[in-house]
Amino acid sequence: MKLEHHFAGLGEAFYAKTSIQPLLKQRLVEFNQALAHALSIDIKSPQTKRILSGEEPVEDSLSMVYAGHQFGGFSPQLGDGRGVLLGEILDDQGWLHDLHMKGAGPTPFSRRGDGRAVLRSCIREYLASEFMHAMSIPSSRALALYTSSQAVYREQPEPGAMLLRTAQGHIRFGHFEYFFYQGKEIELNQLIDYCLKHYYSDCLASDTPLESMLIQVVERTARMIAKWQAVGFQHGVMNTDNFSFTGETIDYGPYGFMEDYQPDWVCNHSDHEGRYAFSRQPGIGLWNLNCLMRCFSKHLERDQLVAILQHYEIALQTHYEALMTAKLGLPEGHNVTNLLSSLFAILAPEKMDYSLFFRLLSHLLPDEFDLILDEVVDRERMRAWLLDYQQARLALEQDWSQVSMAMRQVNPKFVLRNYLAHEAIEAADQGDFLPFRRLLSVLSAPFDEHQACDQLAQRSPEWGRLLEVSCSS
Ligand code: AMP
Ligand code: MG
Repeated sequence: MKLEHHFAGLGEAFYAKTSIQPLLKQRLVEFNQALAHALSIDIKSPQTKRILSGEEPVEDSLSMVYAGHQFGGFSPQLGDGRGVLLGEILDDQGWLHDLHMKGAGPTPFSRRGDGRAVLRSCIREYLASEFMHAMSIPSSRALALYTSSQAVYREQPEPGAMLLRTAQGHIRFGHFEYFFYQGKEIELNQLIDYCLKHYYSDCLASDTPLESMLIQVVERTARMIAKWQAVGFQHGVMNTDNFSFTGETIDYGPYGFMEDYQPDWVCNHSDHEGRYAFSRQPGIGLWNLNCLMRCFSKHLERDQLVAILQHYEIALQTHYEALMTAKLGLPEGHNVTNLLSSLFAILAPEKMDYSLFFRLLSHLLPDEFDLILDEVVDRERMRAWLLDYQQARLALEQDWSQVSMAMRQVNPKFVLRNYLAHEAIEAADQGDFLPFRRLLSVLSAPFDEHQACDQLAQRSPEWGRLLEVSCSS
């Protein structure tokens, strides 16, 4: 494994040198072979194993410093309070991938925190990020999970763990805010050049590289959020320090995947005002991009920044419509606005399971409406919608079963339900990682049938709906 240290080369205004502080009697419990293979990480090498687990320190490992708007208020200095960037790996296409350990021990940015992560939160992040990847949603990914009997104290003692993850980059909107609000123009320019070189190199050929890069950041962010909305993912803590400049989903905390269709749903129980409610995510994405654009107010005119932001809505809308059109089995460009709004107007009062509805629709034959009608209270309203839907599909004269098959490649059978994560965590806390692995294997291929695991595709039991997740992890 050849570790590179490009970010470290930026200089110590950007980070503090830190190393991973392994947990007591730590052990590797899960390793993502496919990801390691894709990154050409030689997992047989004992030295690589020691480096990845933090047992062998890396000279240039570091914790990044950044700022961020947290729930609307600006925090001038945050940073990796429990994260260590080991370095980057260059893939065979020339792209960088960060190797970043979460829960690696205290850093100069830990503030009042202990620098640790609990097994519960590492398992939740492992499952969610791999599921997101399987759903083609840009995301950090989990490479390795280490556990230990070392207790970490939250509301009560819990098993400690570390999660080694990869992402194209861990540069956040908050990185730019950190330098901008301190008036550190040299560092801000260094960061711009760094991102152009490593993540947006195609913009270097443009007459206006910064503008071109920012348009791409806006579009990547819009596409990422369109995908969140289509799959029913709620991030939970959309602060600007959790928003990646490379347009990847990062920092999984009190996230959730929507079960009952409920647009005003708030998964994070610490979010008392519902700032990051499911239906607010697209608007918050734009709010965060506004914060980001302010950092370039010395580089670009106000009109230029506004013009860059105007790419957001169109990119988000276009991408979301394309995703939803495919979920409905209709061809690209088909106008689904009315079909969708009338469908959502039914799903909400019915408290219909969002993913199961679309999966059921993907199995439906034209004469099998009852399959869906049996799931609802207002049968007549649903029947009317199904008739409209059927007409739209039949008018296209496509092979119904072929379309249904394609729909099953975009409408997953399995989604990460809170109660499933909870059950996997309860077992793992007792040292049994089998439920976690079983869940991981279905979530890594969520469109496949996995008939032996049918029960993992079912709706949440009543107790599962009452589970709460919050920022404490
Ligand atoms: P989050 O919103 O969960 O991404 O975290 C916000 C900030 O708190 C980040 O700067 C984290 O590094 C930091 N943080 C979260 N948990 C801990 C912890 N246990 N110890 C130290 N810092 C933490
Ligand atoms: Mg964070």
